[in-house]
Amino acid sequence: MPITKTQQKVDINRRRIINGEDADVIQLYPIKHKFAWDAYLAANANHWLPTEVNMQKDVEQWRSRHILSDDERLALKVVLGFFTTADSIAANNVSMATYKHVTSPEVRMYILRQAYEEAIHTHAYQYIVESLGLDEGEIFNMYREHDSIYNKDSFVLSFNEGIFDPSFKTGTFENDQKFLENLVVFSLIMEGIFFYSSFAVMFGFQRQNKLVGSAEEIQYIMRDESMHLNFGIDLINTIKKEQPELWTPDFQQRVIDLVKKAVVLEYTFAQNVFPRGIFGMNADGFKKYIEHIADRRLIRVGLPLQYESPNPFPWMSEAIDLSKEKNFFETRVIEYKTGGALEW
Ligand code: FE
Repeated sequence: MPITKTQQKVDINRRRIINGEDADVIQLYPIKHKFAWDAYLAANANHWLPTEVNMQKDVEQWRSRHILSDDERLALKVVLGFFTTADSIAANNVSMATYKHVTSPEVRMYILRQAYEEAIHTHAYQYIVESLGLDEGEIFNMYREHDSIYNKDSFVLSFNEGIFDPSFKTGTFENDQKFLENLVVFSLIMEGIFFYSSFAVMFGFQRQNKLVGSAEEIQYIMRDESMHLNFGIDLINTIKKEQPELWTPDFQQRVIDLVKKAVVLEYTFAQNVFPRGIFGMNADGFKKYIEHIADRRLIRVGLPLQYESPNPFPWMSEAIDLSKEKNFFETRVIEYKTGGALEW
């Protein structure tokens, strides 16, 4: 939009996540959405690069005939098959769909950082694939070939259609709900549910002292992803406050239904990939775990629990427990800043 010449200062009260009145998307100050600025600073303090992780031990284990079982090899490949494209999908969504509709400059600042982190994550998967000498064509194309990855990705991508349309604009009830729905799908579901059985597998490797370099990459990624999830939840909850009329009972039910659909897609993925279970995690365990995670996401946006499944992988909560996320995150920041490697 063209700049109007004026001495009038930006009114912080008119700043909104979307549909900010007279939105000035260039002036960072006055900051209204402090959570976004805090997230931006914390993310920078957590900066990391995939090539900082030593992959030597992983390479030796992968080459050895005696350390990894066939099931474990397959598990790593399929998990990478999901991961390699998932962060590209997330990057496209934040940079091409979310960013342009957001009218808060501080929120845009974090989105820029998030988009870069998604690129770092894709780089990390590429680095693992390259280090282990895996077949790139097999891994990177798996999302088209493997039903349960394809189903997750097409579910998520179907929510881009409206928002990616160049003529899409926020500002109507229907479109604002569509935008909010997109946030729900990408934050709560893609970043908050669809990564989690794969995270569990990678921590499974780590607990066996296998592929520890790859697992460490995934730990850094998970730290970033839980930040993305928290930020997405903050966006959803702030829009709820700024435009409470959008959060209708029907819409709430839609969110619950979407999460429930995603839960089925995610545990089906886990069950297809690990039909015989892996590292003591069996099909039923994955199902309960995903349900447990989904409930946690619903609560965060003020929706009722749907499953009340106890966490069957209590060791995961040490690594991933989002109720401790604030603390978990703050300690990470400090440890990373002082040069400490990740310890869980
Ligand atoms: Fe992300």
